[in-house]
Amino acid sequence: MTFMQNQYDIIIIGSGVGGGTVADELRQYVKKGLKVLILEGGAYRKKEHFNQNERDMSSIFFNKGAFFSKNMHIGLAAAKTVGGSSAVYTGVSFRPPASVVQKWKTEFGLDFLTDEFVENTFLDIEKKINVHELPDSFINDNNRLFKQAAEKLGITVKNLKINIKNCQQQGFCNLGCTVGAKQGTLEVQLPDAINDGVELIYNAWVESIGENTVKFDIREAPEMSEPNVEKEGSYEIGAKVIVLAGGVMQTPALVQRSEHKLKLKNKLVGRYVTLHPVFNLNAVYQKTITNYEGFPKAYYIDEFSDGEGYYLETSFYYPGITSKNIPGYGKIHSEIMKKYDQMMSILILSHDPSEYHNRILIDKKGQAVLDYAIHPEVKKSLIKAIRKAATIFFSAGCTEMIVPGSQKYLLTKMDSDRLYSLITNSKLIFEQTPLSSAHPQGGMRMHKDAASGVVDTNGKIWGTSSVYVADASVFPSSTKVNPYETIMLLATHISRQIMKTHFQSLIS
Ligand SMILES: Cc1cc2nc3c(=O)[nH]c(=O)nc-3n(C[C@H](O)[C@H](O)[C@H](O)COP(=O)(O)OP(=O)(O)OC[C@H]3O[C@@H](n4cnc5c(N)ncnc54)[C@H](O)[C@@H]3O)c2cc1C
Repeated sequence: MTFMQNQYDIIIIGSGVGGGTVADELRQYVKKGLKVLILEGGAYRKKEHFNQNERDMSSIFFNKGAFFSKNMHIGLAAAKTVGGSSAVYTGVSFRPPASVVQKWKTEFGLDFLTDEFVENTFLDIEKKINVHELPDSFINDNNRLFKQAAEKLGITVKNLKINIKNCQQQGFCNLGCTVGAKQGTLEVQLPDAINDGVELIYNAWVESIGENTVKFDIREAPEMSEPNVEKEGSYEIGAKVIVLAGGVMQTPALVQRSEHKLKLKNKLVGRYVTLHPVFNLNAVYQKTITNYEGFPKAYYIDEFSDGEGYYLETSFYYPGITSKNIPGYGKIHSEIMKKYDQMMSILILSHDPSEYHNRILIDKKGQAVLDYAIHPEVKKSLIKAIRKAATIFFSAGCTEMIVPGSQKYLLTKMDSDRLYSLITNSKLIFEQTPLSSAHPQGGMRMHKDAASGVVDTNGKIWGTSSVYVADASVFPSSTKVNPYETIMLLATHISRQIMKTHFQSLIS
């Protein structure tokens, strides 16, 4: 039970990967008297509230899972719930590539990323949340066929690492795990933090902040979630330190809503957003395959990362989202969907550069707006990746598929040797087949120089004395891989710097 006070030492806004990591890092000091509060705008849904129904569970996400860019070329998925997007992530666990860490050090001045800090922090994180490769018993047909087909083509396939414990192989990771097997913030860091005295208030949407004040509304708890413990209404409370962890869409929006109170004028707020744009492709295998058991994702290919600009990963999604991912509509589309239980699936994750014009801004009501244009080089990469994925599907024995960028709507086996002429740049029209993103990064870029970034290398917003950011928005550029481990790495560093700077007396 929470009894909200008027003054805290630290208020964390957002309980996702970044916010949960900060809470976990701070809980040791709560025992020594540090007062920490988490304000989460989403509802508190525990494992018993997830029901594996696509329509019901869309309420976990901002905009029901599709927050579209202004040009409608890409739709972003991010969760608004206790645990943030960790409540719906798949648990694919990557450390950032060494080249990315090096770039962040040399180009942006993130010197704290020493080999020792990076290695030790990841070892601690991975132990705590049980990151491991999947045993053979978790490999279903989709994954097995992908590996066999790619290897037949001479492509190296690697094992993904996943952070699960006692997984029941239900496959509904992205709608919330009904058995709490995913070792995300919802299941691990937040319960630990709350147990040690960190307070959590949910359905508490933060409208604005000042240097030491937070203004928020507690809203009605939605159906299928925990009831509120505090009265609904508007509040303003104080904190010595504020940590923003609302994610890439919402942290820059909150800062822009608060610019006046913070006396902040930095034209880089919201800029340099990257989205790790995704196509999920499906193809039909000759017979029914076992995607309803095992784990949805087991393998990846990084061989084309440097030369062609993308990773391929295995994946498998639910009927509603699969019908959206398959381009077009009408009879052929519905005939393909009838073969859902015969489908293989491959996820293309493309590397996008960080560009000044790609940004989060706010509309007149203060709501986040995404202004993002696909870079022409990313479009070229996507074409190469679609051709590659189609080649793997045919090598696996698939007989038909509908893919973006193809001159011919339904591709069959007879087309397998002319994919290069059929799948072309001019036919890839994003208005018709929008991309997706679940890995947004940037917007509150970390940089050692005030003129070139929004937060300093401790995570503090340049120009403020006590407002920090600890989520994916501080990434200076794309990690090129699934980002949650990297968010945890940076949030761990930022938490330690907050303690050293503001609460040194509690560190012994
Ligand atoms: C479907 C899906 C699958 C994914 N799979 C993977 C994967 O397998 N591996 C991987 O590495 N990554 C994955 N990701 C990405 C990963 O989950 C995110 O990168 C990560 O959660 C981002 O962390 P964050 O702290 O920046 O924000 P989040 O985890 O999104 O947390 C932000 C929280 O802040 C709250 N908030 C925002 N604004 C306010 C406000 N104004 N007031 C109060 N609260 C607010 C939000 O409600 C939310 O709960 C996936 C994401 C999705 C959506």
